[in-house]
This record gives sequence, C-alpha cells and structure tokens, in this order.
Amino acid sequence: MTENGDVTPLVQMENVNKHFGALHVLKDINLTVSRGEVLVVIGPSGGGKSTLCRTINRLETIDGGKIVFDGQVLPEEGKGLARLRSEVGMVFQSFNLFAHKTIRENVTLGPTKVRRQARAAADTRAMELLERVGIAAQADKYPAQLSGGQQQRVAIARALAMDPKMILFDEPTSALDPEMVQEVLDVMIGLARDGMTMMVVTHEMGFARRAANRVVFMADGQIVEENTPDEFFTNAQTERARDFLSKIL
Ligand code: ADP
Ligand code: MG
Repeated sequence: MTENGDVTPLVQMENVNKHFGALHVLKDINLTVSRGEVLVVIGPSGGGKSTLCRTINRLETIDGGKIVFDGQVLPEEGKGLARLRSEVGMVFQSFNLFAHKTIRENVTLGPTKVRRQARAAADTRAMELLERVGIAAQADKYPAQLSGGQQQRVAIARALAMDPKMILFDEPTSALDPEMVQEVLDVMIGLARDGMTMMVVTHEMGFARRAANRVVFMADGQIVEENTPDEFFTNAQTERARDFLSKIL
C-alpha cells in the first residue's frame, strides 16, 4: 500500500502469452505487482525474464491475456502508449546513455522533450537526482568519461527524472566490473527503501535478500515458483529452483 492508501495493484498480468514465431516465450503468466513492492525475477538464461519486463512498458506486444497497469489495460498505441512509457522507467544491462550528450543532458532530455518541462526546472531536478545517485560532480562530462558503475547510476537518475510509477531493471549490474556492482545496488536499495515499485531481473542474491519483498523464479516461459526471499533461498519448493540455486550460490 502506498502513503495515500491505494491498495489496487500497480501491475496485473492475467494469462499473458507471448510467442516469437514458433517459440512460446511467456506461457500463461499470472503476476501481480503491488504499489511499493520490490519484485526480483531470477532464473536461467532464455527463460523469458527480459521479455516479461519488456511487456510491461510494451516494448514487446503480447498475443494472449491482458496486462493492467495502474487500473488501465495497456494501451496499444498513440498517446496512451507514450504516457505509459513515461510512467514505467527502464534500466538495462547496457546503460544506453546518449554518447554525444552530457550526463546532465541525458537526464533532462526526457523531461524537456516528452514532458515539456522548462529547461531551468529540468536542470534543477536533474542535479538533485544526480546528487542522489552520487554523480553530481560529473554532470558536465560525457558518458564515455564515466565508469560503468557511474553510467548505470546516471541511467537510474534518468529513469527517475520522469517520475515513474515503476522502474524495471533488467540485469542492471551484469555488464559491470565486480568492484562497481555494489555502488549500483546501493542506489537501488535506496530506491526500494523510499518506496519505489521495482521489478528487478538479477542474479544478485544479496540484493534479493536485502531489498526484495518477493522472488519470482522463471524458467521455460513459466513462473515456476514465487515466494519471499527467505523462503525461496532456504527452502525452495521445486527441484528446478533448487537446481538453479545450487549453480549460482
Ligand atoms: P531471459 O531474459 O530470461 O534470458 P528472454 O526473455 O531474453 O530470456 O528470451 C526468452 C526466449 O525468447 C529466448 O529463447 C530468446 O532467444 C527468445 N527471444 C527473445 N527476444 C527475441 C526476439 N526479439 N525474437 C526472437 N526470439 C527472441
Ligand atoms: Mg534477459
């Protein structure tokens, strides 16, 4: 539940199906994400985790079932879709910053172009967000001048600049050198504490234990298991999940 007491789920997926040609990648997915919830999605490569994330901001269409976001069935196109995209932030494995724009410009671009915010207001907000992720001193540099961990923190600030209702993280630390993983996870843990609704695909079990309300284990396009992190890591219910955990822990 959020501070204003809204108990309706933010995301409701009902019997969601998705094919890529003959490949059935999402099989009857039923999943709810509550407001303020941090959901961690784990599972073997190719299991459909990225596709699942991408259906929520409709980077992927679905071919069966329905997805309700904040009380509305996902729009197919047009203004509704643009609004949805701005309400659901996304942070990818590869940071996807604009190489020829400064850090500050990367963060203000969405608010000024999509939201038509005034430049000065967008700048002020960008600096607050860069402060929050610990990058304010780098605001006038270009992405290539920053480390991977710093670039990923900028990507998070850029997502936050749109005041999203939710942020999807698809393996946000997988491309980072090991020594940079924690600085990104720390920012994410901070967001979780502040009540951001998050869906996080990750193999970082420390993060899952500290920040997740729920863990979803996905394999072969299905949700195989869903539990609290404590239960999942100490007492997985399925052979499939136990086998996966034995390989990564
Ligand atoms: P995960 O993120 O769990 O590794 P994905 O959602 O990326 O899984 O992929 C699920 C399956 O769908 C994989 O077999 C993958 O090869 C396939 N797939 C993903 N995207 C596409 C696409 N755009 N076209 C065809 N097949 C795809
Ligand atoms: Mg993936």
